[in-house]
Amino acid sequence: MSPETTGKLIKPHGGVLVDRCGERPADVESLEHVTLSSKELADLEMIANGALSPLEGFMGRETYESVVESMRLPDSLPWALPVCLSVDTAPSGDRVALADESGRLFAVLEVEELFDYDKEREAERCFRTTDAAHPGVAVVYAQRAHYLAGRVTVFERQAPPFPELARDPAETRAIFAERGWKRVVGFQTRNPIHRAHEYLTKVALETVDGLLIHPLVGDTKADDVPTEVRVECYRRLLEGYYPLDRVLISAFPAAMRYAGPREAIWHAICRKNYGCSHFIVGRDHAGVGDYYGTYDAQLIFDEFAPHELDIEPMMFEHSFWCTKCGSMASTKSCPHGAEDRVFLSGTKVREMLAAGDVPPVEFTRPEVAEVLIEAYRR
Ligand SMILES: [Zn+2]
Repeated sequence: MSPETTGKLIKPHGGVLVDRCGERPADVESLEHVTLSSKELADLEMIANGALSPLEGFMGRETYESVVESMRLPDSLPWALPVCLSVDTAPSGDRVALADESGRLFAVLEVEELFDYDKEREAERCFRTTDAAHPGVAVVYAQRAHYLAGRVTVFERQAPPFPELARDPAETRAIFAERGWKRVVGFQTRNPIHRAHEYLTKVALETVDGLLIHPLVGDTKADDVPTEVRVECYRRLLEGYYPLDRVLISAFPAAMRYAGPREAIWHAICRKNYGCSHFIVGRDHAGVGDYYGTYDAQLIFDEFAPHELDIEPMMFEHSFWCTKCGSMASTKSCPHGAEDRVFLSGTKVREMLAAGDVPPVEFTRPEVAEVLIEAYRR
């Protein structure tokens, strides 16, 4: 990447793209091992590749408190969610090795501090609920009792679930620069893309140079559509309906928190690190059940001055096919009533797919429906 081309892209959060990849220390086997949960492993991966810039490790107490209380890092840079490593006991040495459940080692953490945290307070502040039925809160409640903080050096990268979609922020930035894109809109998704979201991404694309379709491939809740099925849906949709020289699809390795508004901010900041200047925020972004108000994930952006986040949120209403307009539209742009709109509830769509029925073309592309029906048959 020449500075001339990359200079046109948005700067990473905090100004510098973090790279915490490094050499495997000779003594790593002799260090005390800490086993990470799948969420913590996903965070580790994103610290390593700079997706969580400016973070260089798992948060210490001051940073954690500042983020939980005021959605800012101690230097006042916006940051919406804790990125922490939970442990049962204090390690004995000043460095620990970070492992997955199988005992495979990925990184070394320089121990800075061990601190206690209040799970209910974290839940209340970050998730706006202490309800253990909330999937993100349940993950916090299942964590170990203390947080272990420190800078990490990752010497072995985790095997990506979809190698052909695995791109670090430096790589997506290089592709954007190569294609001459300056203004790039990021689209976060954990669902198959039906016509409504296809419409949002294309409306957004009309105003910028390129579109990053950035499906989350880390942990999701059990009743979400499995990632490999979604990825096949994205492939088929892109092949048939998107201009491939204006769109890049790439995996976002994060675990889903379902923290609604705060996660919308966090998602936007991460995409800024991947080189996106704009970010699509729909209604109830990263929400679950009825824990969040319809517009909470959009309104939370007003808590920051625009220059603070730098990345520009693009807010959207629900969209649908309107038979009177004869096009996709939204409640913002269509004056007609509910009776003119092709609307199917999530439950109805699942019932149709499970029965092998293809939903109307105004709701989903037949190629996407085909993949989903096939998945339901298995
Ligand atoms: Zn209409």
